[in-house]
Amino acid sequence: MIDVINLQKSFGDKEILKGINVTINKGDIVAVLGPSGSGKSTFLRCLNCMEDPTGGSIIFNGVDIADMKVDINQHRRHMGMVFQHFNLYNNKTVLQNVMMAPAYLRCKDIDKAKKKNRMIKFKNMFRGSDKKEELIPITETKEQIKKEVKEQAMALLKRIGLEDKADVYPSTLSGGQKQRVAIIRSMAMNPDVILFDEPTSALDPEMVGEVLELMKDLAKEGMTMVVVTHEMGFAREVASRVLFIDDGQIKEEAAPAEFFEHPKDPRLQEFLSKIL
Ligand code: ATP
Ligand code: MG
Repeated sequence: MIDVINLQKSFGDKEILKGINVTINKGDIVAVLGPSGSGKSTFLRCLNCMEDPTGGSIIFNGVDIADMKVDINQHRRHMGMVFQHFNLYNNKTVLQNVMMAPAYLRCKDIDKAKKKNRMIKFKNMFRGSDKKEELIPITETKEQIKKEVKEQAMALLKRIGLEDKADVYPSTLSGGQKQRVAIIRSMAMNPDVILFDEPTSALDPEMVGEVLELMKDLAKEGMTMVVVTHEMGFAREVASRVLFIDDGQIKEEAAPAEFFEHPKDPRLQEFLSKIL
């Protein structure tokens, strides 16, 4: 699903990612570990081109999205992202937070199709009958889309037991509730993959569990996930593969058992000896 080929990223003359190569397949749960400042967040942000890579390719569903010529927004909507600090819109209600992106994008799709249809009609006026282009079928109205998106958002809120919080503002939620809303908000886009950057690091310890549980459920359902985390338990039990990033490079990549029991890279051995 995602092929990362020789990915490089520099900020000014500071080289942060020094040629990352990794393949993420459908259904993979990839945990990313590494010391602070090693480039984990930069790697994740390059995956969906929130940061423009300075070299290499990111082939996502067959398209190199690192290529400046592609319409990145068309591809990014299939990649969810969950941040350490939730990044909910504080001036929108919980329900609005969950609905906003899918409602906006799907309504925009209708506008685009209408515009395209107007052009096709215009072109067809001047064409012979055998050359006429088909109009793009528009099967839903914006009202129907909003209704559908709202139903899906409410179902997701129900799933995390927060349907009664639909109309409150995020500031009234606990950290764990905020992060669970952020996760279902990314699910509402029906993404192909969700990228998580230390989703539990900003939480009080008693709230870490509820967020990890939701992530485990997603993993069980087959969601493809890339998770930068310090939660060794999650990496060990849930991940299908673990990556160790150090100094802008992947120094080790293995299944969890191998990764934790028989680390080969000396820096990884040192890293694990400090945290386990
Ligand atoms: P942490 O575990 O602390 O979150 P990390 O592995 O996620 O660390 P990154 O945030 O990717 O590390 O940062 C890697 C390096 O890139 C750091 O030295 C950081 O200062 C630098 N860096 C990150 N973003 C920028 C930026 N926008 N401009 C300049 N330097 C940056
Ligand atoms: Mg980081």
